[in-house]
Amino acid sequence: MIFDPTPLSPAEEELRAEVRAWLADVLPDDFRPGLGLGSRHDPEFTRALAQRGWVGMSIPTEYGGAGASTVRRFVVIEELLAAGAPIAAHWIAERQTAPALLRFGTEEQRRWFLPRIAAGECWFSLGMSEPDAGSDLASVRTTATPVDGGWRVTGTKVWTTNAHLNHFAVVLCRTSPQGDGDRHAGLSQLIVDLGADGVQVSPIPLIDGEEHVNEVVLDGVFVPDERVLGEVGQGWAQVTAELAHERSGPDRYLSVLGLYRAFLAVHGRDPDAVRAAAIGRIGAQLWAIRQLSLAVARSLEQGEAPAVEASLVKDVGTTFEQQVVETLRDVAGGEIDPGGPTMFDRLLAECVLNAPTWTLRGGTTEVLRGIAAKALTRSAR
Ligand SMILES: Cc1cc2nc3c(=O)[nH]c(=O)nc-3n(C[C@H](O)[C@H](O)[C@H](O)COP(=O)(O)OP(=O)(O)OC[C@H]3O[C@@H](n4cnc5c(N)ncnc54)[C@H](O)[C@@H]3O)c2cc1C
Repeated sequence: MIFDPTPLSPAEEELRAEVRAWLADVLPDDFRPGLGLGSRHDPEFTRALAQRGWVGMSIPTEYGGAGASTVRRFVVIEELLAAGAPIAAHWIAERQTAPALLRFGTEEQRRWFLPRIAAGECWFSLGMSEPDAGSDLASVRTTATPVDGGWRVTGTKVWTTNAHLNHFAVVLCRTSPQGDGDRHAGLSQLIVDLGADGVQVSPIPLIDGEEHVNEVVLDGVFVPDERVLGEVGQGWAQVTAELAHERSGPDRYLSVLGLYRAFLAVHGRDPDAVRAAAIGRIGAQLWAIRQLSLAVARSLEQGEAPAVEASLVKDVGTTFEQQVVETLRDVAGGEIDPGGPTMFDRLLAECVLNAPTWTLRGGTTEVLRGIAAKALTRSAR
């Protein structure tokens, strides 16, 4: 396991102060923070952020990015998530698609997509899960059949976050039949234009009334050869490499920071012993998990692929987030302010409804523990 202690340099701390000051300036005084990566999809905010050079920061300058290190990007996204800023429009494109294009994309794809991602103008969804393929992703049944000049894609994806608003989805599909041998073979990633003929996007309403996840039906959608991401048949290896970027970031422990701050605003001044203990415990755990996440960012920066460490950070981080909601709900007591619900009350209600999804999206806790257990058993042999 590589979890080296990772202090931030003075330049990285300066960047943090700059982002924090900008956010204080652009977010309104009565701003209600979003829950981390579940925040609002706000194209205007995304474009303003991009103008500062803070979208797609790790994209090299020749493709329109800032060529910044993984840790400088970490600092910026940590501040955005801590503020609950509306980052959903560019989130997947910049966290996941840009690194995948840099690693597996063709030169033509990089030149077309990366400058648009860095400008905050090109937004992506993840087309992995299906009605019968979630944890067991290798059982995807969406099929791409070769045709003249490209592929015809048919199948159904589910839980596709913001597919109704985004431009493209990277779709994991089967490009050759599953043989008797390796079930991970024969999978490929295709970049599907969500506005293309044959794409139908329908919302899946969530318990809080929000409609940001979707069912995406692909009915013979044509995808030209130039939109195959990476190598045909190598989809499984590519998706697994991507997951190190998806699992370990501050989005896995900062969904509750707004709630914690709102609690401190109401109860932080002169807390009783029970509340004081809860405040201290949450703060200490948050700081420890942050160090683990930062260590993974540093290791990605050094060109390593810390997939197991990333899985562990997601497990620890999202379990922590759920515990924070339960703890604060317990220690806050049930009283609603006579003046109406406070920011804390509103955020608590939102967190209670959303927290169950935190240990599911991006890989469930059981599956992450399975990955870590297998890797540890291998290394102990
Ligand atoms: C809010 C939200 C947004 C999402 N956004 C996207 C998106 O944009 N794109 C996308 O592709 N997907 C998305 N997902 C889907 C997410 O990745 C899946 O929900 C997740 O992979 C789990 O799959 P599943 O829901 O089919 O559950 P299942 O895989 O059916 O799992 C059900 C339960 O069984 C357990 N389980 C399964 N297999 C094992 C095993 N081998 N050992 C032990 N326990 C096991 C699981 O841990 C879980 O508790 C999103 C999900 C949520 C909740």
